[in-house]
Amino acid sequence: MPQPALLMCRFCGGSPAADVTFRAHRGLVILMGFRKTDGPMCFTCGLAVYRAYTTHTLSQGWWSPLSLFLFAPLTLVRNLLAVRRVRRLPAPGPGTLGPRYDPGLPVHRRPRAYVALVPVLWLLFMIVTGLSGGA
Ligand SMILES: [Zn+2]
Repeated sequence: MPQPALLMCRFCGGSPAADVTFRAHRGLVILMGFRKTDGPMCFTCGLAVYRAYTTHTLSQGWWSPLSLFLFAPLTLVRNLLAVRRVRRLPAPGPGTLGPRYDPGLPVHRRPRAYVALVPVLWLLFMIVTGLSGGA
């Protein structure tokens, strides 16, 4: 495996970079979508991709049964594992490929991410009514 210092960010050309994969999932009743971006990314670009894809999954990843129980949680966990590797990198040196992505606001400051509360609350509601004997 190549050393982080030898890797260049695929977006801006800065280094160090970590070889990571970020995923986004959209689960609709009939349509499902998977998006994936992989390759070496520096701290700044990696964080930007992580935040965009995680927010996308939180707002659109829940709307089919398989997505709710499988794909959306899996996608979120895998992104969390990937972003940990990017966060460990020091700030990247000058890029050679062009402007960097702007990481923007953290996920918890993005209103769209809170769409995820709907399926979570619904699930809690089902569990609570199930436990209380369906009253
Ligand atoms: Zn970069």
